[in-house]
Amino acid sequence: MVVETPGAPARIEPIVVDPPGAAEVLVRMVANGICHSDVWAIEHGNWGSPFPMLLGHEAAGIVEEVGDGVHHVVPGDRVLLAWAVPCGTCSPCRRGHPRNCTHGWQQPPRLHTSDGRPLIGTLSIGGLATHTVVNAAQVIPVPPGLALEAACLLGCGASTGIGAAVNTGSVRPGDTVAVIGLGGIGLAALQGARLAGATRLIAIDRVAAKLDIARQLGATDVVAAAIDDPVAVVGALTDGAGVDVAFEATGIASVVSQAVAMLARGGTAVAIGVPLPDSTITLDWGETTVGAAYPRKVSLKITDGGDAIAEDFTAWLEASADGRIDLDAMVTRVAPFTDEAIAESFRAMLASEVVRTVIRFD
Ligand SMILES: [Zn+2]
Ligand SMILES: [Zn+2]
Repeated sequence: MVVETPGAPARIEPIVVDPPGAAEVLVRMVANGICHSDVWAIEHGNWGSPFPMLLGHEAAGIVEEVGDGVHHVVPGDRVLLAWAVPCGTCSPCRRGHPRNCTHGWQQPPRLHTSDGRPLIGTLSIGGLATHTVVNAAQVIPVPPGLALEAACLLGCGASTGIGAAVNTGSVRPGDTVAVIGLGGIGLAALQGARLAGATRLIAIDRVAAKLDIARQLGATDVVAAAIDDPVAVVGALTDGAGVDVAFEATGIASVVSQAVAMLARGGTAVAIGVPLPDSTITLDWGETTVGAAYPRKVSLKITDGGDAIAEDFTAWLEASADGRIDLDAMVTRVAPFTDEAIAESFRAMLASEVVRTVIRFD
């Protein structure tokens, strides 16, 4: 599925895929989740990479061929493709801070349009294609018992949410948390917080069906944001104390302000969503019951990709295989790899009708 220029329509067309070079892996796709970042990349650009773009970045498949020096996977292995694995070469990586990696991966130059122009995948993955070639370090084996239609979610949405809870938000046993926005990332943040031992999980969304899914996934309280003011309800639910960690998973600036406003003393708000380029956040700062300063002295942190390192993906794949994380509950639909099915999956996502549509390649 190729996008010629920013804003152009995405279309399935023939591409040319060369064999993998050293430290590269050719993967035959089995499943790819449709993520909001695909739409963001079509409209606003592929984080600095030139177009045409090979769409898709939440992918799992089967290794078809490995280049020289690749030893951790062999042809036939079931694998997850993870754009957020640290690159090891950028300045934060070299300074020993891989969770702050700038994700300097370049897509291996093996993908071309049928008339020979280079193709670069969304976030250097390109999962909406029957085949792609990625850097070997971004290829992570999937344990037995976990379907690739579920595992692929850990390529972006699920790992971003879980990592926002366990890495960025540092959720601790006994914490009270709130999650605003229950798409794939928000529901994953809820599950990450549960995995980290949070005992009170407040789930907030405008769509009633998503509150039901959140309950299935361990939410102890739900707030219908279409009816009630989330900050007021969280205040009432916590006897005025607020929550230890609040997650914004919408990409909407005013929701970041809400996340900060519902924090307890010393609490942390984590903004996960991908904002529009010109977004501005307004916060109460003064020494009041809602201000960010003393006596509340709260923090606001930003995450990209859940601040994950390679071992996190392996741990979360295992947690998904043994049921501590439920990825299936976040797969609303499985659809075929056709222009029509993918267009419908984008429509349903933007209309908040689905948590995730996963495209399956047969
Ligand atoms: Zn790096
Ligand atoms: Zn994504």
